[in-house]
Amino acid sequence: MIRSLSAADIVRIWELGQDRHPIDRALLLLAYAFPEKQFTELASWSIGCRDAYLLMLREITFGEQLNSFATCPQCQENLEFSLNTKDLRIIDPDTMTDLRDYQVSMDRLNLHFRLPNSLDLATVMTAADEETATLQLAKQCLLEAHLEGKVVSCEELPVTAIALLTQQLTETDPQAEILLDLSCPACDHVWQVLFDIVDFFWRELSNQAQRLLQEVHSLAKVYGWQEAEILNMSAIRRQYYLDLAN
Ligand SMILES: [Zn+2]
Repeated sequence: MIRSLSAADIVRIWELGQDRHPIDRALLLLAYAFPEKQFTELASWSIGCRDAYLLMLREITFGEQLNSFATCPQCQENLEFSLNTKDLRIIDPDTMTDLRDYQVSMDRLNLHFRLPNSLDLATVMTAADEETATLQLAKQCLLEAHLEGKVVSCEELPVTAIALLTQQLTETDPQAEILLDLSCPACDHVWQVLFDIVDFFWRELSNQAQRLLQEVHSLAKVYGWQEAEILNMSAIRRQYYLDLAN
């Protein structure tokens, strides 16, 4: 069962995730959202599954509306738009956490594969270029390959098989790459941008954590309360005292 982040969680996650890679930040968020689950399980979820849960976590923590902005690449007009977590969440992650074995066939070839997860992304992070990373990811996710019923190794596979597998990894986990269609009201230019929930959520969480610490500072200075006491108050009560203190 997913749980929302408390004010104390937000400050703690922000503190712990400061110098971490986005892959780790995503897992850190999930660890607080699913305190009863083991880290290995969270890290084994596909990227789409991870992102669908992060959208849920965002929804139960900060609400379903996401305010975003972009700059038109043609005329540099600044665009503000709002998104909804429910529209962005295109899969039900609860039905996907146990799915491990997918397959695809082409000619006399049959491939069994699993979807890339956080650990896979972490291992290809240091790859020389995107092409190498994609190839490495495909190899890691290939469980078994059969050619005319006989088991073949990844090295024996033709290039077309690897290309097919790479394409399948994307198609089978559509939540892992959310593209937004944007159009500029000033010049009618249309383009696509990638929506990255990890990046979006982290920026919001950072702002919120710093706002909370500011509130702790203001209230502690006036009332002498402890940080934990202040963070454990409801937002309404904290705000009431802040109004009184100012
Ligand atoms: Zn424009």
